[in-house]
Amino acid sequence: AASALEASADADPACSEPLAVLGRDVRVPLVTGGEVTYAALDYAASAPALQRVWDDVAAYAPYYGSVHRGAGYLSQLSTDLFENARRTVEEFLDCRDGDQVVFTRSTTDSLNLLAQAIPADCQVFVFETEHHASLLPWRDARVTYLNAPRTPQEAVRTLEHALADRDPYGPALVCVTGASNVTGELWPVRELAAAAHAHGARIVLDAAQLAPHHPVSVRELDVDWVAFSGHKLYAPFGSGVLAGRADWLQEAEPYLAGGGASKSVARRTDGGVDVEWHTTAARHEAGSPNVIGAYSIASACKALTEAGFDSLVAREQQLIARVRAGLAEVPEVKVLSLFGDDAPRVGVISFVVEGWNSSHFAAALSAEYGIGVRDGLFCAHPLVRTLLGSDPQEQGECGAPEAAPGEKSLNAIRVSFGAGT
Ligand code: PLP
Repeated sequence: AASALEASADADPACSEPLAVLGRDVRVPLVTGGEVTYAALDYAASAPALQRVWDDVAAYAPYYGSVHRGAGYLSQLSTDLFENARRTVEEFLDCRDGDQVVFTRSTTDSLNLLAQAIPADCQVFVFETEHHASLLPWRDARVTYLNAPRTPQEAVRTLEHALADRDPYGPALVCVTGASNVTGELWPVRELAAAAHAHGARIVLDAAQLAPHHPVSVRELDVDWVAFSGHKLYAPFGSGVLAGRADWLQEAEPYLAGGGASKSVARRTDGGVDVEWHTTAARHEAGSPNVIGAYSIASACKALTEAGFDSLVAREQQLIARVRAGLAEVPEVKVLSLFGDDAPRVGVISFVVEGWNSSHFAAALSAEYGIGVRDGLFCAHPLVRTLLGSDPQEQGECGAPEAAPGEKSLNAIRVSFGAGT
């Protein structure tokens, strides 16, 4: 298995070049002696920075200034870069007229923002297979958790069934991932969006794992909102995005109260304060915005678009085929899959190795082969438990469980890669 993963680190000469990233040729010492070029195969957690992103940020850094808050040159420049970044993201996501792009800290932050902006009587539908960032923010709402489907078609049927039973007059929201952070499998987003809309519900796409690998068009997928994180999109400077329909966002209380979100604040005669909040994206961006985070996301969006998703996808699919073929040669390896071997997927592959504790296996890959992967339950506990054949309702900490020799694994190993691999 280790040599299968080692092989994935070498680009196939028939493929186009990987995008230049920081840390690609770092040499690390091995426990067993010697040193090796480190293979960072944990892109699903955080992808390395693109060299282009790093260069853009470095070129801007001497001119850094506060956004929306000054008349000086540096402030004006930073404000321009921040607002231009918003437009770049709008284009990257192929947003509709009237959609708003809110800069957040991450996908988790974006989905929590939306969760607090949905109408009070909103019903939420979410599959139990979601990452915790998509699974948990709705717990204060009327949420229905849907059982894990075993095919994309079953996912659509399950959702249709649940929506058919809902209160047809109230607002409803479906939250779904575009690509699983455990199996890499693509979800039938367009079909789920059509089902949601046919039943008068809205849909938010968790594109944390999709956006780094595939173009995401709000218009074509016909989703109401999209959330993603900069650090998984080669822009590790602490920003994320929530983009989509303005109405619920603008009818809601600001996510954070403070400067930037407020248009005008005045003392009342009774001693309190009246606030008029902005009705632009700024409503949910109180405080000094993370201009470097937003600028770096825009830089990554441009770099990926210019490289062309067609060739990036083709290259990644070759890498996926090589890793899967290598893993298939090892009888002790079981690759985890919800939708089956033929399901379309991105470069995220989880597996268990019979007779091995996954954490020990991941540690050995790092120490003995210089390969960085992740082990655990990947913040998707119910999904990983389902895939491992254990009880999805069981409690337990991420990464903690250890299987005794001969018992089935209680956690897994994940290898993930992308345009920079
Ligand atoms: N959604 C998915 C599918 C993810 O894989 C992740 C992170 O792994 C998240 C959401 C949360 O992203 P972040 O940690 O950047 O908020």
